[in-house]
Amino acid sequence: MVNKSANLAIITNNTFEATKAINLDNYDISSALQTTLEFNELIAIFSSKISHKIPHSAYVYINKEFDLEVRSGVFTRHSCNYALKVEQQQLGELRLMRNHRFSDTDLQLLETLLCCLIYPLKNATLFHQALKMAYTDPLTQTHNRTSFNDAIKREMSLAVRNNKSLSMIFFDIDHFKSINDGHGHECGDVALKLSAKWIKENLRESDIIFRYGGEEFVILLSDTDANGAELLAERIRSSIESHTIAYGMETIKITASLGTSTLRDNDTAESFIQRADKAMYTAKNKGRNQVVAGR
Ligand code: GH3
Ligand code: MG
Ligand code: MG
Repeated sequence: MVNKSANLAIITNNTFEATKAINLDNYDISSALQTTLEFNELIAIFSSKISHKIPHSAYVYINKEFDLEVRSGVFTRHSCNYALKVEQQQLGELRLMRNHRFSDTDLQLLETLLCCLIYPLKNATLFHQALKMAYTDPLTQTHNRTSFNDAIKREMSLAVRNNKSLSMIFFDIDHFKSINDGHGHECGDVALKLSAKWIKENLRESDIIFRYGGEEFVILLSDTDANGAELLAERIRSSIESHTIAYGMETIKITASLGTSTLRDNDTAESFIQRADKAMYTAKNKGRNQVVAGR
C-alpha cells in the first residue's frame, strides 16, 4: 500500500491509489489547510471541509510522536481508519465515524481528499519537531533554559489567575567536577543523563523539569505548596543517593543538594528563582546531600 513512485502513502486496511493527485475541485480544502500548523486545527478544518462530501459524525486523530489525541463529535458504530505517512514519515492516524457504512466509493473519495491533508500535516510535523528541538536539551532530553524562561512567566500568571500555589526546586549535583576529573567527561555526561531520568521518575505529569545550567536542574511544580515541594525534593534527593552509576568497570555514587521556593504575592520571576537558588547554596554550605526550603 506504499506507492514508491509517488513517494506518498496512506497506510490503511484499504488499497490506496497514489495517482489520485490533488485536483482543483479540492482547492478550497487545500487553501483552508494552509492557514495553520496546529494539528488539532488542521484536522478540524479537514473534517468540516469534507463533511458535505463524506458525512461523518465524529473524528479521532492520534499522533504518538507529539503525544496528541484530538477527538470531536458523536462516536458511532461504523468507522474508517487511516495511518497517514509520507516519505517514510509517520503523520498520525485518522479515524472517521458515522452510523452507516462507508462504501467503497466513499473511501475512494476520502483517499483523494486525504491527499490535501498529507502535506499540511507534514509541514505541521516539521514545524513541531523544530519547535521541540529549540526547547529541548539534547543531552538530558529535559526542557532547556529558553523553555524555562517562557514557562516560569506562563506558570506564574496561571497560578495567580487560578489562585493556586506554585513551587520550584533547584537541584545541583554535588562535587560534579570530580566525576569529570576522576572518570572523564563522558562519564559526567552519563551521570547527567541518569540524574535527569531519576528526577523524572519522581515527578507528576504536570511537573516540568529544565536543565538550568551545566549540572543544575530546575523543576516547576504547579498546584504544589511549600510542604509538597519539600517532600518531593527530599524524595528526589533520596532517590539520587540510592542509585549507583555503572561506568565501564567502575561504579560511581552521586548526591545532590536541593533548594525549594514557593510563589509569594509580591514575587517577581527573579525573586522566586533567587529564593530557591539561595536555599540550594545553603544546602551546599550545610554539608551537601540535603534539602533546604527557601524562606
Ligand atoms: P558543588 O558541589 O559545589 O556543586 O561542586 P561541583 O563540582 O558540582 O560544581 P562546579 O560548579 O565547581 O562544577 C560543575 C562542573 O560541571 C564543571 C563543568 O565542567 C561540569 N559540566 C557542566 N556541564 C557539563 C556537561 O554537559 N557535561 C559534563 N560532563 N560536565 C559538565
Ligand atoms: Mg552548579
Ligand atoms: Mg554542583
